[in-house]
Amino acid sequence: MKLPTQTSHPPVTTPAANNRPLVSPIYQSVKFAYPDVAATREGLAHDGYFYSRSSNPTTRQLELSLARLQGRDDAVVCASGVGAIAQTLFSLLQQGDHVLCFGELYGPTRTLVRRTLARYGVKHTMLSIYDDADIEQVLATTPTRLVVFESPTNPVTRIADIARITAAARRHGALTLLDNTLAGPHQHGSYDIDYFLHSLTKYVSGHGDVMGGAVIANAELLAPVRRDFSLFGGTLDPHAAYLMQRGLKTYLLRYEAQTRTAQALAEAISDHPAVTCVHYPGLPQHPRHALACEQMQHFGTVVSFDLHVDAADLFTDALRLFAIAPSMGSAEALVMPPSLAGGFDLPADLQARCGMTTKTVRLSMGLEDASDLIGDVLQALHSIV
Ligand SMILES: *Cc1c(COP(=O)(O)O)cnc(C)c1O
Repeated sequence: MKLPTQTSHPPVTTPAANNRPLVSPIYQSVKFAYPDVAATREGLAHDGYFYSRSSNPTTRQLELSLARLQGRDDAVVCASGVGAIAQTLFSLLQQGDHVLCFGELYGPTRTLVRRTLARYGVKHTMLSIYDDADIEQVLATTPTRLVVFESPTNPVTRIADIARITAAARRHGALTLLDNTLAGPHQHGSYDIDYFLHSLTKYVSGHGDVMGGAVIANAELLAPVRRDFSLFGGTLDPHAAYLMQRGLKTYLLRYEAQTRTAQALAEAISDHPAVTCVHYPGLPQHPRHALACEQMQHFGTVVSFDLHVDAADLFTDALRLFAIAPSMGSAEALVMPPSLAGGFDLPADLQARCGMTTKTVRLSMGLEDASDLIGDVLQALHSIV
């Protein structure tokens, strides 16, 4: 072989079957080959790897890990959380379908339903996640293909009554899709949810350095979605999948630590004179604390609160340890003032019913020491009163 041929075909170093790497290697390969055409046909008939847009051993490992954590058979990952949401909605819905969704949904999800899917003739009803009677009423009177909801919601950590929503959906033949990003893939698995969605960018990555998304469901529900994902093409790169898999190893430790910090912070500011309301499901005064206790093992890492005065930007600027940034689940504590958070695209009455105000600040816990973060929030509150 001449040099260019040699450099195109480097030596292959495969460990023996009894000589495994403790950490799975990154299969940074777009293509997977068999020795001949017959073996290729045979391999493809049995879900063998061929082209990484459709499947890859590294992304597959992540899919199986996530499915197990969420208590389902299967998962498909893709390049971002919004990618997972958009691709799943386009896969499940068609012209004339009706979607029940909520004003408390993640902003881009709301926009996808209200603008993008509307262009394709998908109709929707938007309620507040606390409109329990209306949820049942809409499902009983309007044939509905899909219910899209979140719990806890972002930023005001409302808790959906999951058993009630899923029972009503089941009764009236609607599928359910829970964006479970804030609760994380270890929670809510025992509920009768058809599809779980996650932004892996948050808690699974855990380090703020890689984006990804996932949809998790039982195999028969997921098979058509997987086929469509391969056509939509928002594939997660194997290297990103490897970083997610690495993040997963510390996921539960991080989630627990950040939940402890969130609880301590929520308690520390709950009686503060500059604060009118702390939104955290772990506080007894949260309107659905009892339901949260039933549904969740951990109340989450996001604490938001309403300031007494219109000084959210001043408060935000007074913080020293919280970075002004979107997202959550990083090693660093983050803050989002309402002036940057958006979410004010809804009709005023629905916005009010969804608890969104210009005084609501969202804090997302990092891995810093809890007393340092609490001290920082208290000094920033002190500076604005
Ligand atoms: C961040 C987030 C998403 C979007 O995820 P990306 O990975 O940023 O695309 C979707 N849903 C919720 C609830 C989120 O917090």
